[in-house]
Amino acid sequence: TPRVVIIGAGIVGANLADELTERGWDRVTVLDQGPLPLTGGSTSHAPGLVYQTGPSKTMTGFASYTVDKFTGLEADGGWCFNQVGGLEIATTPERLADLHRKAGWAASWGVPGEVVGAEECAKLHPLLDPDRILGGFHTPTDGLAKASRVVEVLARRAEARGAVFQGGTRVVGIRQSGGRVTGVETPQGEVPADIVVCCAGFWGREVGAMAGMTVPLLPMAHQYARTAPLPELAGRNDERIEARLPILRHQDRDLYFREHVDRLGIGSYAHRPIAVGLDELPRLDTPSDDAMPSMLDFTGEDFAESWEHGRRLLPALEQARIEDGFNGVFSFTPDGGPLIGESPEVAGFWIAEAVWVTHSAGVARSVAQLLVEGRSELDLHGCSVHRFDEVETADAYVEETSRQNFIEIYDVKHPLQPRFSPRDLRTSPFHARQKELGAVFLESHGWERPHWYAANAALAKDLPMDWRPPSRDAWSGMFHDASVVAVEAWKTRTAVAMYDMTSLKRLEVTGPGALAYLNRLTTGKMDKTVGAVTYTLMLDDAGGVRSDITVARLDEQEFQIGVNGNIDLDYLRRELPEDGSVRVRDITGGTCCIGVWGPLARDLVQPLSRDDFSHEGLRFFRCMRARIAGIPVTAMRLSYVGELGWEIYTNAEYGQRLWDVLFEAGRDLGVVAAGRAAFNSLRLEKGYRAWGADMTTEHDPYEAGVGFAVRADKGPFIGRDAIAGRDEGSVGRRLTCLTVDDGRSVVLGSEPVLLDGAPAGYVTSAAFSHTLGTPIAYAWLPAEATVGTPVEIQYFDRRVRATVAAEPLVDPEMTRIRR
Ligand code: FAD
Repeated sequence: TPRVVIIGAGIVGANLADELTERGWDRVTVLDQGPLPLTGGSTSHAPGLVYQTGPSKTMTGFASYTVDKFTGLEADGGWCFNQVGGLEIATTPERLADLHRKAGWAASWGVPGEVVGAEECAKLHPLLDPDRILGGFHTPTDGLAKASRVVEVLARRAEARGAVFQGGTRVVGIRQSGGRVTGVETPQGEVPADIVVCCAGFWGREVGAMAGMTVPLLPMAHQYARTAPLPELAGRNDERIEARLPILRHQDRDLYFREHVDRLGIGSYAHRPIAVGLDELPRLDTPSDDAMPSMLDFTGEDFAESWEHGRRLLPALEQARIEDGFNGVFSFTPDGGPLIGESPEVAGFWIAEAVWVTHSAGVARSVAQLLVEGRSELDLHGCSVHRFDEVETADAYVEETSRQNFIEIYDVKHPLQPRFSPRDLRTSPFHARQKELGAVFLESHGWERPHWYAANAALAKDLPMDWRPPSRDAWSGMFHDASVVAVEAWKTRTAVAMYDMTSLKRLEVTGPGALAYLNRLTTGKMDKTVGAVTYTLMLDDAGGVRSDITVARLDEQEFQIGVNGNIDLDYLRRELPEDGSVRVRDITGGTCCIGVWGPLARDLVQPLSRDDFSHEGLRFFRCMRARIAGIPVTAMRLSYVGELGWEIYTNAEYGQRLWDVLFEAGRDLGVVAAGRAAFNSLRLEKGYRAWGADMTTEHDPYEAGVGFAVRADKGPFIGRDAIAGRDEGSVGRRLTCLTVDDGRSVVLGSEPVLLDGAPAGYVTSAAFSHTLGTPIAYAWLPAEATVGTPVEIQYFDRRVRATVAAEPLVDPEMTRIRR
């Protein structure tokens, strides 16, 4: 087995050593700059509250694994996980509603939990005054992790399997040769390694830099204080059990609470964001329980307001006082997620950082699976260090967004809520025109993306009756304008609309080896004539859908890839043949794209060009280089919204001109600019999947309904063996199309779907279908939920009736596109 060095013996490093040695990798050395077992890192003082439920299926899965694993650990009679349960209370109607939404996530991801009334909350946690709260979300399997003890137990277990833990050993350099890691440097000498995994927590940026890797995390302080003994808790717990009351969260005031025998511990995120430079950390030779590098002095003035709010919530605190506290340091990231993955520059150098105790075992299991088996059972796209584009790893960006995440950590967040700042980082060449049309922009990876255009409100009065949308509830109506979006959808289906597709990633794959490379990576036949475009999948070794893409063959040795959801560019680069015969280049930034779609698309485009845009001249799924009003473009006859038309690409410098000529020429045809809200609705009613939301590596193509893109007879490709013998008929679960029975209740995604009253799956994407005049959704459901099956979607505290429908809902014969 390979020699592995893990940097950092905190909760992540210890879990990883355990998971690797459990899988038979026994040549594992864990190095830590601090002493063992209490290294002085964030783990050494973590109060260890584990709340499992969140919006992300993967993060919740990590947490549930942590709970299961820690519950099964024994440590000389002391607990590693104290399953006291979790209680999150609401003091505002908005929070109470949000707790219902959270209960929905719990049901979707399989965590037991329910929303309970104020009296029940007070029964569960007698320090609560029921008159001061509206209710709570109770989860019986949440609880407290004793992180420092877990580290000891896991270290012992890993050592018994051959691992070595070594304290007092600071890694000061990463050794490499020929682009591969060969070991780490320490003041005591070099430790050779085939694989190095950095689990250095908030020191990760510093260690990453040793390998030339930019790690987008920011160390920040977070306050934790303990009261003096409370008479109300006297005699309840002994030193061994420590806590019996559920861990408590008061998110309306950014506070959480746990028992420490007869004291209460209080954590606060209500204070100003305090970014911490590594040079500000205390320098200590021997960390102790209350003095360690990750602990800064308590700044009482930052806690004062939290203390008042704590006392207002819990009457027992009114006569109490704070006895001790500290500002503890841990990692924040631009989107709050962890950072997992291999360095693009130095093969074999991995990181697993910005991980909470809550997710530590799950993250370690996934990293061990990646290393040993090549694949994580949970989808990692939201955790990959490669999810950020270059601009998102800049120091100033990381600092600003991480600070913002600190502020918003417990906020009620709408799924469409855009970043407040920084904005206008990346704009398409059409940006000035879009602003003139009153575009309402949302943000993704720094891109400004029009969601709808206020200018189209003037057309709402023209909407035919059957296109007028019903009113929505306030939540689903947020970041949305139903009648304007209806106009944009209506115009797309009945006239013509222009969509800015610039922010969708585009790659150029060139070279003598390009064809063979793409054939190996994708499920489609790539050896087609120049001008062919193929919708295809990239699978992982186990047959999971890694990405779905379109590949346009622009020349014998030149292909353009359009990415529908997300793509791991780093993976594509690692799969390149060593002989240099293939080059992959991200061309998103220097180019732009307008989707011109609708029954009148040809009437708009053809008069502007001498090239042949007729049905015969450029067939469906074909592309050509052409000129439109003299501008050199590449036109691809594709439509993600299911209408006649083209994706029209050009270089960025021509973008605004292209927009102007198309918009001007379309005036008489009733052209509108249309945004992503209409786009999402139209693509969903056409049944087109969005990778990342509807399908991930956790699903095979047949389950996801994209089996048609697998050409099993084409020769070897990654994932082929794994899916051999599978087909649509043999799947146990399916991405399933639903229509909402009442014709008006719009859901948003991640809600549980109930079959016969019991949770059986969850919504992936949803929208109001303007063409059908009813809300629709896609959901993962057992295969027995066939067309016509009645289901219910749990939306906040109510159940929305829906029915499994045949898909696609719009134009199954493809007559709209093929004309
Ligand atoms: P660490 O425990 O910091 O371990 C990293 C290790 O790397 C350290 O031991 C360090 O010495 C070592 N290291 C760094 N650089 C080098 C080097 N160059 N060479 C050798 N070794 C090196 N999480 C929860 O889930 N629930 C909670 O309730 C909770 N409460 C928290 C409260 C506070 C006040 C704070 C500060 C954090 C809290 N967290 C909580 C977060 C949690 O503590 C951390 O996210 C987690 O402990 C990080 O674990 P880690 O193993 O990544 O990092």
